[in-house]
Amino acid sequence: VPGYRSQLGLDEDAYEALREHLETASYRGREYRLLPASRQGVERGTVLIDGRVVRGFPKVPRTLVTDGVVRHFDDRVHVEEKLNGYNVRVADVGENGPLAFTRSGYVCPYTTWWVRERHGDAFARLFEDRDVTCCAEVVVPENPYTSHDYPDVDGLALVAFDLRERTTGEPLPTERRRAVLDGAGVPQVPHLDAGDPEAVAGALPDLIRELSAADREGVVLKSADGTALLKYTTSAANRGDLASAFALPFDYGQEFLFRRIVREAFQAVEFEEDERVLYDRAHALGEAILLPMVGTIRAVERGEAVGERHTVRGDPAAVGALLSHFRDQGLSLELERDEERPGERRVTLLKVARSTTDTCRTYLDGHVVRD
Ligand code: ATP
Ligand code: MG
Repeated sequence: VPGYRSQLGLDEDAYEALREHLETASYRGREYRLLPASRQGVERGTVLIDGRVVRGFPKVPRTLVTDGVVRHFDDRVHVEEKLNGYNVRVADVGENGPLAFTRSGYVCPYTTWWVRERHGDAFARLFEDRDVTCCAEVVVPENPYTSHDYPDVDGLALVAFDLRERTTGEPLPTERRRAVLDGAGVPQVPHLDAGDPEAVAGALPDLIRELSAADREGVVLKSADGTALLKYTTSAANRGDLASAFALPFDYGQEFLFRRIVREAFQAVEFEEDERVLYDRAHALGEAILLPMVGTIRAVERGEAVGERHTVRGDPAAVGALLSHFRDQGLSLELERDEERPGERRVTLLKVARSTTDTCRTYLDGHVVRD
């Protein structure tokens, strides 16, 4: 078996430089290494485990104007829905079942259990004669990472959006990938449109308005060969991100907030001829910023801890492993609810946002701010 260096396609110097940045973690006594930020052209979240490489999913570039599609693609473009959940890569790296890796490259013990439970047969078929990584978004209400609800779409669970050669990260062509996933029975993201770049760009504003009205996140555009990607998000998604970030204002980077306001501004310029509609957008944006922050300050005033709240339910061992995994990562958890019956543990946990809790407390106590 070739070593990691040659599997990654790096020369000695590049591999040495990359190695310095690897972190070590373990899953059920199995040590593995992961790359927390992209280096030497190798994607963030790339994993080295038992002689095998699982390449990370690349960063998806964004356009701030729908017209950007015309610049980015010169051939047929596929439009897929961008679903708002959490990113996982499912790969078969020689255990009794596939492992589910997070965006940054950790094995998530809970998602691994859940994927096997819920989609075990489909993944067994997918991996039977293919050495691929399945890149997917997990979109279920009960999960340990995100909280976007898709109220009208029940049964959404794991939705795949890519298949990549495990070691090189080369994607399958878009249509081929859709056929392979269908054949294996792995659910995948909705395919919304396809055509030449001009036609697709022309149809995007209306499509984005519709998605936004349904509180959906946006689209990812893909070239036919699967290598070129481009994302564009709805106003609803921008506001949703701002609302969750401004609920924990001192735990999010200020860049995160600023970027989403900039996206709104560019969309307003491109979409809004009518000043009245612009005022509605401004109003909605203001609510997304101010109301969650006021709610948080009030909660701290009442003496509550604030943070991100998630409920998970499943095999007690998997839920326990998830809690240990989070604590190993230095998260401060409060278990607000913890019920166990045979075969199932259900936990509501709060990932405590320390900075927001402490800073709000300090300000409420009247400490002088020098800014
Ligand atoms: P990054 O840009 O590095 O992926 P991010 O958190 O900024 O990280 P997002 O803005 O959420 O990413 O956009 C990219 C992510 O969108 C992908 O990593 C993937 O998890 C998710 N996604 C949802 N639907 C799709 C889809 N149809 N095609 C590709 N990615 C999708
Ligand atoms: Mg996302």
